[in-house]
Amino acid sequence: MTQPLIIDAHLDLAMNAIEWNRDLSQPLAHIRQREMHLKDKPDRGKGTVCLPELRKGRIGLVVATQLSRYTPPGSSLPGWHSPQQAWAMTQAQLAWYREMEALGEMVQIKNGPELESHLQLWNTTSLPDEKKPVGYILSLEGADSLVDITYLHKAYAYGLRAVGLSHFGPGRYAPGTKKEGPLTPAGIELLKEMGKLNLILDVTHLTDEGFRQALEIYQGPVWASHHNVRQLVPTQRQLTDEQIKQLIERDAVIGGMLDCWAMDIRFIDTISDPWQLNIKLENLVDHWDHICQIAGNSRHIALGSDLDGIFGTEQSPWDLDSIADLRKYQGILTRRGYSPADIDNIFHGNWLRFLRKAWA
Ligand SMILES: [Zn+2]
Repeated sequence: MTQPLIIDAHLDLAMNAIEWNRDLSQPLAHIRQREMHLKDKPDRGKGTVCLPELRKGRIGLVVATQLSRYTPPGSSLPGWHSPQQAWAMTQAQLAWYREMEALGEMVQIKNGPELESHLQLWNTTSLPDEKKPVGYILSLEGADSLVDITYLHKAYAYGLRAVGLSHFGPGRYAPGTKKEGPLTPAGIELLKEMGKLNLILDVTHLTDEGFRQALEIYQGPVWASHHNVRQLVPTQRQLTDEQIKQLIERDAVIGGMLDCWAMDIRFIDTISDPWQLNIKLENLVDHWDHICQIAGNSRHIALGSDLDGIFGTEQSPWDLDSIADLRKYQGILTRRGYSPADIDNIFHGNWLRFLRKAWA
């Protein structure tokens, strides 16, 4: 019997390919080997994501990002010194996705019919999984690189289907994680334009004030691609119970993430050790439980792992070596009392319901 498909709604694949210089078409051991001697980033040699591992885990559909920040004078965050440079970086990332398509490694999914035919491909057994392309829905994490509103239309034309206004720090459209305050006037304009294109608004990385405003202004489809629960990890980066309720009212889906920092409040970036703190895949189930208690069902939780999102095994659950280990959730969730129907919801059903409705 084939294993149920998994959808992961947040992976920075092109950033890993272009800025980390990872050839994601290669086996994981090969990618790690090639960067073992590098010291420029803390996660060198510790990556968990590549296309063969996605296939091995039957993670046949992902939301893949373009990610490029503008950094104003005086900001200590890494980023580009002009929106034009940030845009150029997103175009390099797009070019990499196109090259993966040319190799048959990936396929872009932009609408309902493409989604259905991709599912059919993954659900037919005649072709071995190793030969199936990984589908990707293109998302922009932080909108800084949209030089002005006309660039949103350019991006839509090449297949962009979801947008998060902010990332970390100050943003041209909205302040992000570790900041406070409202959307900028340009951010409000951008939301109105996104509505005309029926783009998916990703609320992950908004400030509390930005979140409130965005949900008021935006009437189109809304998700939280990679987001955990603030009750369990009390930092501004995670969702309050009130925000979870608002998202449920909008029939949103919340992707649970596997950055240790977002799973356990004790974890300190670049200092803590997941093994020492015993942070394992199951910790995410506590976050899922909390959301299910509020919702009264399992229809609003799913995966948005963020694996290799500027961290590797040094900052992921210790019982995960590669993204294929997402399959372990089958056993973990069963043990925690989730039914096969709940597990189907979490693995793919909820994202599919969301996408089918958004793209109907
Ligand atoms: Zn993120």
